[in-house]
Amino acid sequence: MPLDVYDKIMMLAKRRGFIYPSFEIYGGSAGFYDYGPLGSRLKQNIENLWRNYYLLQDNCVEINTPTITLYEVLKASGHVDEFTDITVDCKKCKQSYKVEEIIEKNISIEDAFNNDKVKCPTCSKNLKDPYPVNLMFSTKIGIEQSRDAFLRPETAQGIFTNFHLLYRYGREKLPFGVIQVGKGYRNEVSPRQGIIRLREFSMAEAEIFFDPKDKTHPNFEIVKDEKLYLFDNEKEMKISLEKSVKTGEINNQALAYYMYLTQKFLMSAGVDPKKFRFRKHASDELAHYAQECWDAELYSERFGWIECVGIADRSAYDLSSHINSSKTDMYAMRKYDKPKIMKVKKIVPKMGVLGPLFKDKAGKIQTILENMKVNDIKKIYVKINDETLEIPKDCYNVVEFEEKQIGEKFIPHVIEPSYGIDRILYCILEHNYDEIKKKGEEYRILKLNAHISPIKVGVLPLVSDSRLIKIAREIDKNLRDAGIATYYDEGGTIGRRYARMDEIGTPFCITIDHDSIENNSVTIRDRDTTKQERKKIENIIKFIRDKISK
Ligand code: AMP
Repeated sequence: MPLDVYDKIMMLAKRRGFIYPSFEIYGGSAGFYDYGPLGSRLKQNIENLWRNYYLLQDNCVEINTPTITLYEVLKASGHVDEFTDITVDCKKCKQSYKVEEIIEKNISIEDAFNNDKVKCPTCSKNLKDPYPVNLMFSTKIGIEQSRDAFLRPETAQGIFTNFHLLYRYGREKLPFGVIQVGKGYRNEVSPRQGIIRLREFSMAEAEIFFDPKDKTHPNFEIVKDEKLYLFDNEKEMKISLEKSVKTGEINNQALAYYMYLTQKFLMSAGVDPKKFRFRKHASDELAHYAQECWDAELYSERFGWIECVGIADRSAYDLSSHINSSKTDMYAMRKYDKPKIMKVKKIVPKMGVLGPLFKDKAGKIQTILENMKVNDIKKIYVKINDETLEIPKDCYNVVEFEEKQIGEKFIPHVIEPSYGIDRILYCILEHNYDEIKKKGEEYRILKLNAHISPIKVGVLPLVSDSRLIKIAREIDKNLRDAGIATYYDEGGTIGRRYARMDEIGTPFCITIDHDSIENNSVTIRDRDTTKQERKKIENIIKFIRDKISK
């Protein structure tokens, strides 16, 4: 079978130190990939470009939280009960499959598995009954007195459990955005799609908190006429942000704005606009926390349309779950223009009666009564250590107070753009991979954008002459001192050296020749045009900087 573009890219990626399967010397393990020297730099550049959009343009703040997460957090968030894939095993060859990958779209699981209609894709024998499998890796914290925990399946929960601290840090203003870049872990049922479906992968997530009464975005006006590429599961359309919100295609301004930011980031990272679209989740596809969700999908020759970013309106789901479970005050405040004087009813316990009646429980009951919300009181019940106690009427008075209130509390809503960096990185490689024939040989070029390519400049002395090498070494050092990543290479013909740089996506090559000794100039070759320009050595850094920032 001829190699497809995925095979070719993965061969190049391994040979040149971008990405390759982990633990290969021990037989490997599906779902794990190593990033080599060039891959690590490329990934870092993509993540930093992403940070530019969220930290600088959108003014979010960045945090870092543990990848090991307490059971209680993921129980409250719904992941313990809901973060599952419906799985099916083969009766004969024992292979496991994620059901949605082996049945046709738009068919229910019951229909698909009725009367053994679906067979094992590997051995064509019958399958067992489908069952849910939780995708989280579980672990324990501590040895003797251990606590249950999981490797985080997303970075988002680390942000939600910090909300009250971050809200104060942000001077209690909304909208307010927090980002986190780091590893996520999912014990995928049976990852068969190489780098696309990993068990440990890199995520870049933003949680932007909004007042649910105001899901506008301060930058919306500036970008409202820009066009989004949408696909509503039937037809593709190119439609302005303003129109998409007006027609209800996208639920609110905030969601449309973050879709736009995503589109802009992906284009500047080098995604082919013809291989990009936003697809709306159908209602039966929505995650347990999502109200509306759009996926940014990128097209791959081998895998078809791949979900690379999920942009979800998670409403108040996560914060209310954590408020209920942890009893922490994580509300935001909608401030009144002027403080209001409100009449509030409170319970004032009569300790002289409560004490003798409830003895050692009286103190606890007092605290509960004092914090109770009071409307119309008929009977009061209090729960202490699983015991429910009725509090007789003569144990307390209900008193009306006047209270100054500066605003009303509410639970913010969250818009979450969640990016899978590994998938984006692979698609960028695929979209920018070019292959031509040169002198009968295959010649590969990665047309990476200069600002994400791992190496910006190849520094190449034309021939092995100590005078040229001295100048080249100095240029190489000066570029690196200026923060520009270089690759110094004096081995082989100049053609071979250009080829090596083209293959890893280096946008510029500086060649030092004999004229360099005479007049302090070098040639700078552009990867995409292969044109060479002669430049004074003292102007190199500015020239390269200007090119990269374009
Ligand atoms: P989700 O929280 O499921 O919407 O995932 C957010 C993003 O993480 C997705 O859009 C993917 O780009 C990425 N992602 C999810 N699962 C995997 C995986 N198993 N391997 C690699 N990337 C993933």
